[in-house]
Amino acid sequence: MSAPASEVPPSVAGLDPLFDAQRVAFRRHANPPARERKAHLDSICRLLLDNSEAIAAAISADFGHRSAHETRVLEMFPSLEGAKHARAHVAKWMRPERKSVSLWFQPARARVVKQPLGVVGIIVPWNYPLYLAVGPLVSALAAGNRVMIKMSELTPRFGELFAERVGRSFARDHVAVINGGVEVAQAFGRKPFDHLLFTGSTAVGHHVMRAAAENLTPVTLELGGKSPAIVAPDYPVERAARGILFGKCLNAGQTCIAPDYVLLHEAQVPAFIEAARNEVLQLYPGGAASVDYSSIINSRHYDRLQGYLEDAALKGAQVVALAGGTSESGRKLAPTLITGVNDTMRIMRDEIFGPLLPIVTYSSLDQALDYVADHPRPLALYYFDHNRARIRRVLDESIAGGVTINDTIFHIAQDDLPFGGVGASGMGHYHGEHGFNTFSKRKGVFLQSRLNATWMLKPPFGRRIERLLRFMLR
Ligand code: NAD
Repeated sequence: MSAPASEVPPSVAGLDPLFDAQRVAFRRHANPPARERKAHLDSICRLLLDNSEAIAAAISADFGHRSAHETRVLEMFPSLEGAKHARAHVAKWMRPERKSVSLWFQPARARVVKQPLGVVGIIVPWNYPLYLAVGPLVSALAAGNRVMIKMSELTPRFGELFAERVGRSFARDHVAVINGGVEVAQAFGRKPFDHLLFTGSTAVGHHVMRAAAENLTPVTLELGGKSPAIVAPDYPVERAARGILFGKCLNAGQTCIAPDYVLLHEAQVPAFIEAARNEVLQLYPGGAASVDYSSIINSRHYDRLQGYLEDAALKGAQVVALAGGTSESGRKLAPTLITGVNDTMRIMRDEIFGPLLPIVTYSSLDQALDYVADHPRPLALYYFDHNRARIRRVLDESIAGGVTINDTIFHIAQDDLPFGGVGASGMGHYHGEHGFNTFSKRKGVFLQSRLNATWMLKPPFGRRIERLLRFMLR
């Protein structure tokens, strides 16, 4: 086994030899059988189970505070589920698929074979540093690839721990975890990977795609954006508040698929504010000071969020704190509603990525759908309604990366569903078989049969092809 990952300094110069070593290793063993891939996935499961406490402690230290329960529910559990799901299905995913052959080419056969791409890169953000590293890693290993992972500079403690533990389970020419600053991330993005999966902001996504284009490296971009939650006019607001505040308060709103803002019928606003306050007290009886409630990752982001509140208030919005316990020193920011918002306010232009929930009002469902359609395509959309026809209408008339109806967040936890954005919120998918396919070459193969009639299509062309073309071009 190679040296532990943590012994290798996080340097730009270190990337080239690592990349070359992975390339060579891939050429030597370009298509690991299902048995080996399952063993790799088992190693991931063991790594998660054996290091659960250390992982939660490191992430909490990086955040300032994050409950170990939250890390175990939101990161450990879906990572483990994803690895187990892939282990259970990888042999089936690897099987060649039979495809149909048109009458003209029979009795030949056609099939799709799935092949590992080679060396793939994964760039990880800070908000769920375990899940957003392990999720893509599981897909890439199930597909039989070599993997380089760049962790975020904002989670250095977890990044170090993860590099060290991965280094104990995998040779560096198989899976390598790289830490370091933005200059390392930029150099990483310039490597001629066979596929690059980036999770992060839409702004940085532009740079990543531009760098990848130099190598024609295909990209999966898992980006962010403003995900709306729409509540139907006659839907019980208490139930809506329960789903929306749960999704908004997880990790103190620092969740890519958190509901960014809520679209409510004008008449629902007072009842929703009341229900939201009750819901927050139910979830976090001590408000922001509760042990289950996360800190904001750093003071730059804390100040950014406070800036949104000041800007909105200055432009005429009302700010309604739903609980106490905000503390600048602990970077704890209480869940807060903002009413009377408009699109001149920064809070309605930027992705919020924090526990602030603006309320936008509508007078008809048409107006709500128009509002969503007039803005960049979101990563997630939440709709609360019991009316089937209206649900179908919202699904048909809105475009979003993924949807949960009558709750929030949970579509991400379904391993059989593709996960990924659309438009400004990203491109491509992973999770389950969708991730396996993302990191595989699906190669079309045509198997000619000994006896076949394709000679009829070949030159020299004459009366025979003329007669045939009368049928072929009907
Ligand atoms: P970010 O874009 O600032 O950074 C993400 C990663 O990119 C970091 O590891 C960083 O080191 C690296 N990076 C920075 N500049 C780079 C460059 N030029 N080339 C290559 N890599 C570079 O994002 P963040 O602040 O870490 O994360 C928050 C954002 O991520 C939010 O917008 C959120 O919505 C999004 N996000 C999306 C998903 C998803 O699944 N779609 C999940 C989590 C977070």
